[in-house]
Amino acid sequence: MTEDTKRRCWGEVILSPTGEALAVHELALHEAAHAIVAVDLGREVIWVEIDPERSRGEMLPETPWHRGTRRAAEENLIIAMAGSVAQCMLKGWGSSRWTHEGLRDREIAYSVAGEFGLDPEDFSCVSKILNRVDVWEKVKGLADRLVECHRIHTCETEYF
Ligand SMILES: [Zn+2]
Repeated sequence: MTEDTKRRCWGEVILSPTGEALAVHELALHEAAHAIVAVDLGREVIWVEIDPERSRGEMLPETPWHRGTRRAAEENLIIAMAGSVAQCMLKGWGSSRWTHEGLRDREIAYSVAGEFGLDPEDFSCVSKILNRVDVWEKVKGLADRLVECHRIHTCETEYF
């Protein structure tokens, strides 16, 4: 994996605060949300995967054509937030926050937000996307597929 690929992955070691493996379904939902939100923003997803044995997952979106711009940073911030916000929605929490599992995403978010003066704690844009019924249905559908086959490439599903 090249340095560039590593930077573009929304991946993280997903462990609960007690060190127990996260439920497979929640792990899948977290990664599916990154992927579906990326697609909703017009980005292509190269692959998305979960590794339940190691309680981790990754999603790799294509690099935006407007890379390095404020718009690209805004998109990257929204994509980074999607995993944590989907978990909050699953748990029925009234407001969104960075989850323990989204620590790596949070690092990415703070880094891209800092560059353009964006707010890495403002979840309103991503909440608006994930609260759309069509988007949330896709997230749940893709999560179910991920639980079954663990790694999905762009060409293998109707969700992208
Ligand atoms: Zn994540």
